[in-house]
Formats: sequence, structure tokens, C-alpha cells
Amino acid sequence: MTEARPVRTRFAPSPTGPLHIGSARTALFTWLLARHYGGQFILRIEDTDQKRYIEGSLQLVTDGLQWLGLDWDEGPDKGGPYGPYTQSQRLDLYQQWANWLVEQGKAYRAYDTREELSQISAEREAKKLPPGYDGRHRELTPAQEEKFIAEGRKPVIRFKAPDSGKTIAQDLVRGEVEFDNSTISDMILLKEDGFPTYHLAHIIDDHLMEISHVTRSIEWLPSLPLHYQLWQAFGWEMPVYAHLPVLLNPNGKGKLSKRHAGFSEDGKQVLVLTKEFQEAGYYAPAVVNFLTNIGWNFGDEREVFSVEEAIARFDGTGINPANSVYPIEKLDWLNGVYIREKMSDAELAAHLRTPLERAGLTVDDSTLLQIVPIVRTRIKIFNDVVDLAGFFFREDFSPPSVEDLIPRKMDAAGTLHALEIAHAHLSGLSSFAFDHTEPAMRALAEELGLKAGQLFGALRVAVTAQSVSPPLFETMEILGKAESLRRIQLAIDVLAKQRVSQQ
Ligand code: GLU
Repeated sequence: MTEARPVRTRFAPSPTGPLHIGSARTALFTWLLARHYGGQFILRIEDTDQKRYIEGSLQLVTDGLQWLGLDWDEGPDKGGPYGPYTQSQRLDLYQQWANWLVEQGKAYRAYDTREELSQISAEREAKKLPPGYDGRHRELTPAQEEKFIAEGRKPVIRFKAPDSGKTIAQDLVRGEVEFDNSTISDMILLKEDGFPTYHLAHIIDDHLMEISHVTRSIEWLPSLPLHYQLWQAFGWEMPVYAHLPVLLNPNGKGKLSKRHAGFSEDGKQVLVLTKEFQEAGYYAPAVVNFLTNIGWNFGDEREVFSVEEAIARFDGTGINPANSVYPIEKLDWLNGVYIREKMSDAELAAHLRTPLERAGLTVDDSTLLQIVPIVRTRIKIFNDVVDLAGFFFREDFSPPSVEDLIPRKMDAAGTLHALEIAHAHLSGLSSFAFDHTEPAMRALAEELGLKAGQLFGALRVAVTAQSVSPPLFETMEILGKAESLRRIQLAIDVLAKQRVSQQ
């Protein structure tokens, strides 16, 4: 690695849709590298393939990066000394440098029509040659060029790739990589419409933006010899290239994609876009921790670490060259760890408010803060709070059904009786604190010849209308004596009514 060069890394998405978790991981590694060396992280938008452009993608990408906390020092919205940071605004630069390569005899104008190119492809296919161009316009005379122009043909600029020999390039992830130059074709650098291809544009930008490390997906590895040769042709110092492994679908087949990710073992749709994680109630620092663990290892067998700790260790070495199956099942666990151990009450409360309000509940601060300690260990993602503890905020509490109220091995009459006596006992208590109500109800269960679980079960369903809830007596304390008794009374009414209707 060229330690001497100030570290400047870049994330260079093409605006072709929302931020995919695989691209987010590339962005994360790129960002970690910059932050580790105290360098800069640049956001550059590679929008030269106008056919693939999707309106609004830039916003979706920046939203995703911001959510993850991957801040950039220079970029389209921020500006910076090397701007503009959007490729479609830099066309003159690409044209200028492509023409320079032509003048130097390192590139040439090719005038082939679409039909001629299809014919070349067909011929190569018939000869079992790899796809490419046969270089037929490499050495046109000025007269030939003029003739083509007069015919109305528009040229592209193609690279004059070496025909023989080998290219040996360095990759930060896998070391030295060797390619046969016959695999490099005379690729198009500048298209007919004056737009550059990725090959040309990224090199010019990485040079002019003084990028020290190009971190990109392994899918670009086969283009590395071409890019190496282009750097040579320009005579510029080549940055360190790091080809990052990709994430594979959970079934191990193919690159992780929205269409093919499928369902995880618990039957949930496998999430692939950063905004899906955000909406599902994942905590961004847990997602960052999760992504850092894929294809990189913190060491010391540690899977849980803060982003600051990752920055301190992530120096670009130790990246696993192999693609990884998307270990989505780890994320819920990790998110749970963050919820249990890494968030203050106030922070967790703020995150729980969003899904509760989204579910249409009116959330008051005091109840919200009170439920935090009792739900913290019982949820894996923020959205779990709605099912577990939404009843705290339900003004239109509807009492449970008779079937739900009757605990195992009890009947309606027994349940009614137990709840009536429990109601009376609870009403008489001077304190409704959980450490008063719990022993009182335990003693009552014994008196009634019931298991504590039976009485508690009936009370739980009565006050929460659900069979799973945060701890019962803390729940009742937060609901308050009046509301808890009101709900138990509603349950009693439900059971009593049923008895009457059966008589
Ligand atoms: N725009 C390219 C892509 O989205 C970026 C590759 C690179 O980082 O150089 O694949």
C-alpha cells in the first residue's frame, strides 16, 4: 500500500435505484479505510449510463448512507475542491482526455455502424473467440476517416489495447493478479454521444480527484488489466485497487438480489435494501456492525464492536477474497444485543416511538420511558414493540375473548372466580408497585389452589389482551391501579356475561 499518499477513498454509485445492502457494505469498507487513515471519503455519482438512470436514486442512496452514519467529506451536495462530483457534469474532461489519448496514438476513432459491429460479434462467436472488437479501424488513414465522416458516421474512441504479453496488477485483497493481454479488447472509452464509459471516466476522475484507493466490487476484477493499461497510457500513478467480495443470496446461489433473496428460515422476506432495514426497525449501528463482519474479521473472536473500534482496526488488510453467503440470521441477534446493551433509555425510547406512532398509537413520553426497561430484553428490532407493548397506548382497549381468558386446565367459572377475588385483593392494596402486587397474587394463587402461572396468565390476558407481554406486575404498575382494575373488571364482565348466556 502506498502509505505516503494521503488517503482519499471514494464511493461511486450509479444512480440506478435504492441503496442495496451489498453496495452499502462496499461504501462502509471504503469509508472505514478513509477514517482509519484520517483521510477523506468522497461520494461521486457515476451517471454516464443514461439508459440505466432512475430518477430519485441519488436521494435514496444518500439517505441510506446517512442512515448508516457514513458521512462524506466531498460530494455532489457538499461540493469540494475536486468537483463537480457528478460525472454527467464532467463530460468535457472525459472528451479532452480521450482526445489526448488519440493524439498520443494510444486510442483511436472507430466508425463502425451497429450492423457492422453485430457482424463482428457473429464472426467472433463463430470462431469461438471471446466477445470484443477486432481492431479494424486502428490504423485508418485521414482519407478513410474523412470518407466515413462524409457518410454521416459518428465515431467512438477506442483504446489501443496491447495484443500480447501479460498484465500483472496488484489487488489489495488478493495480492498479485496476472492476466493474459489477449483478454483485453479495444474497449470503447468515449461513446458516439460524447459520454464516457466507466473505464475512462473512473480513471480520469480517480486521477483528478487524487484518489488513493479504489475499492469496488469483485465484478470489476476482469477489467483490472484494461484499467491498468489505461493508467499506463496516461502515465499517471495508479491508486491501490481493492476488489471486494460480493454477498450471495442465502441459498448460496448468485449475487444477493432483491428478486432472488427469498425468505429466511423463519419465513420472513430477506431484506436487501437499506431503507427496508430502516423501516423494519433495525438500529443503524447494529447494521454497520453486521456488515463489517461480512468478509472481514475484527479479530479476538469478537463479533460485537463499535464503529470507532472498527475504524481503529480496519486498515484494508485481512479482507476475505471469497464471496460470502448473506448471514441475515445474525442480524436479529446482533440488533438485539445493541438494544439490550448499547442504548440509553432515552435513545431506545426515541427509536420505539416511531413504530408505535406508525401503528396509529398515541404515545406519551412518560409511559414510553417507563416501558423501555421492561421491553428492552424482549425485542430484537424496534418494530417488535408494537406487538409486545402496543396495548399500553391503546385508548380503545377491547377486552379479550372468553377463550383467551381461560388458562390451561381451568374453566370459565374458575377463571371468573379467581379474577373477582384478585380484583378485590388488588383494590385493597395500599401500594400498586410490582413488588407488592406480585407477592400478593402469588399468595392468592396458593390460597385458591392454583398454580401461580394460571392466575398470572388470566391476569395477563385481562390487562393486556394478549398472551405474551412484558412482565405482568411491572406492566400493571405502569398501567396504574385504576386502569389495571378497569381492565380486570372488563374481563370479569366478559366471563360473567358468558355464564349468564349459558344458564
Ligand atoms: N459506478 C460503478 C458501480 O456502481 C462504481 C465502481 C467503482 O467504484 O469504481 O459499479
